[in-house]
Amino acid sequence: MNKTDNASEVGKHKFEVAGLGLAPFRFVGMSENYITYPDGTGKAGGTCDYCGNGIRFECVVLSRDGKRFKVGSDCIAKVGDEGILRAYKNSPEVRAHKRKLAAAKDAKVSAELVALLAAKEAEYRALPHPYGFINRETGAPLSKWDYVQFSLKGCGASGRAAWLKTLKRQAAPAA
Ligand SMILES: [Zn+2]
Repeated sequence: MNKTDNASEVGKHKFEVAGLGLAPFRFVGMSENYITYPDGTGKAGGTCDYCGNGIRFECVVLSRDGKRFKVGSDCIAKVGDEGILRAYKNSPEVRAHKRKLAAAKDAKVSAELVALLAAKEAEYRALPHPYGFINRETGAPLSKWDYVQFSLKGCGASGRAAWLKTLKRQAAPAA
């Protein structure tokens, strides 16, 4: 194999062309490398062996000839290797990371919702339930407040995000 011949590199794995080892490559796992300074700021602690960018999440890849290296998730996504990308997406670390991000986002949404709704409570308690529901025990008519509270209990993270969007839109001054 002529390594300097460009034609021979057509169709070759980009990691292989970059000298990271022989294809096929295998996704081994991901770990976080983040440096936190005493003042609370921080920066990515790793470097991508493929593009040289600083990376916070190091994806470890193993080549057929046993070379172990780390690349960023962007390069995992862009290198054009479906197998590696699938293994990355399905790995427990990446799934856990995604869950963590989603939970953090949901916590922020929930906090914003609570604040927005607190400002609306009196108004909503005075409005009728949009479907005219009544309290099954007392027969008293329910309010829009009851409706919102009930919806929020069972709607999940995506529902809460949608509620927040709706409420924010309503809170925006009319154009
Ligand atoms: Zn990279």
